[in-house]
Amino acid sequence: MPDEARLTQLAWGVYAFIGAGGDSNAGAILTSEGLLVIDAQQHATLGRQFRRALARETGKPVEWLIFTHYHLDHTGGSPVFAEEAPVLAQERTRDKLCAILSPGKENPRNVTDFDTKIRLLFGPNIGSLIPPNDPGWAWFKKRIASPEYETVSVALPTHTFTQRHTLDLPGRTVVLEYVGPAHCEGNIIVFLPENRIVFVADLLFVGRFPWLGDGDIEGWIRALDWVAELEVEQVVPGHGPPVTLEEMGEFRDMLFALHEAVAEAAASGIDEDQAAATVRLPAYESLPRYREWMPWNVRNLFRALGAE
Ligand SMILES: [Zn+2]
Repeated sequence: MPDEARLTQLAWGVYAFIGAGGDSNAGAILTSEGLLVIDAQQHATLGRQFRRALARETGKPVEWLIFTHYHLDHTGGSPVFAEEAPVLAQERTRDKLCAILSPGKENPRNVTDFDTKIRLLFGPNIGSLIPPNDPGWAWFKKRIASPEYETVSVALPTHTFTQRHTLDLPGRTVVLEYVGPAHCEGNIIVFLPENRIVFVADLLFVGRFPWLGDGDIEGWIRALDWVAELEVEQVVPGHGPPVTLEEMGEFRDMLFALHEAVAEAAASGIDEDQAAATVRLPAYESLPRYREWMPWNVRNLFRALGAE
């Protein structure tokens, strides 16, 4: 994992901006008009760093900013790009942002309170997953304790689509496809068939345990199975370096193991507190974020699977 966020070229005019230490990735595609930017980093400082790297590499203006999903670690740098370009997302991403942000007409929208920031990062249900005085909150407080998080700002999508949005560019097709509720509602992939590249964003975490606190694990596994049928050689995750479909399959196996473990717990008749305390995935315990996120992932999945 790089110590510093870094722009890498995956094919001619196709870039991935790989976050430091497994932090969120972003991407960009060069067109004759300018850049299609895929996600915006987690706050304005990193957003500007990403924008400067694109300027140095291409010298081109931004034509569109595309959100892969609503989570703040992918949208918090959006005002940097929204100054010069419209913002495109799946309609549920816009709905989700509007529902979490307080009502208002201004765009971008500033946020200063902890509750809204943490809901933007981890989902509106986080307050129901983590009990009020649970020591688990300490990690989440620390997560947004840096000065860059004092005031965060998100540009709301100006344009939305429902299922598929295709851009036919000279020599390159770019397909934005909604894959159904998976990592969260509204998550899309960006597929470049000619380049055999797919940006799957947070449908894939490489070198880090995934957040499933506002996810749909069965939808997520189905989405990965759908991506696995694409003819691609490079899969760009939301966190960590690009990988192959085969390595994406290993991540899918981990989700499957988690699904089995939680479904088994739900079927055994134990309650949610007991499941959160006892469900383990020993093979994955050494992954960063496992310890901090596993109990909340289990709670969210238990609520869905226990109700089936
Ligand atoms: Zn996410």
